[in-house]
Amino acid sequence: MNAAIYGPLGAGKNVQCKKLERRYGIPHIVTGQILRENAELETPYGTPKEYMDEGKYVPDEMINSIVEKELSEVDHFMLDGYPRTMNQLENFSEIITGLDVVVLMEVSDETTFYRLLDRKICSNCGDSYHKEYRPPDTPGECKFCGAKLTERDDDNSEDIIRQRIQEYEQKTVPVVEQYSDDVVVVDAERPHEAVWEDFFEVVEEYIPDDRL
Ligand SMILES: [Zn+2]
Repeated sequence: MNAAIYGPLGAGKNVQCKKLERRYGIPHIVTGQILRENAELETPYGTPKEYMDEGKYVPDEMINSIVEKELSEVDHFMLDGYPRTMNQLENFSEIITGLDVVVLMEVSDETTFYRLLDRKICSNCGDSYHKEYRPPDTPGECKFCGAKLTERDDDNSEDIIRQRIQEYEQKTVPVVEQYSDDVVVVDAERPHEAVWEDFFEVVEEYIPDDRL
């Protein structure tokens, strides 16, 4: 399965991908997470840590090379948030020729704000929670691995959220448009269980038979 998932912040991509990964062993590849995992990796552009420590954007070239390494180690994947820019798409097209499916999860800006302002992330497995939309069974604790839930610093400011919505529209929407023939839209305004049913229906045919 070679797939990618898109959608604005708070669309619930993380929740759906983590579920797919847990149940069917399809690796969920998230740029932010693999950068953190490879923070010390030496690349021709330096290490990811050097950029992240200074709060700078990690250059596309570095992201490309780390994603490339990551993809070379898996047979199946669900990419989340990559390729995120036209520049990344150009490089990605050289490594992977075509995706089986591209899922676009649609939510309104209001929903993005609502879900992000109260988001908590598992410090271990990266699953996400929200006090109303997706509460943990025990407050402050991940229901899958029991680790502590933390807030992402950048989730809590309306200005930053607005900036990221704008960035998604300017940089990522054109990438999704390039995939237009392979894109399946899922209405992600609904509760995540309902979204999962639609999401799963879209991806099911690409999951290897021995994992179903
Ligand atoms: Zn967890």
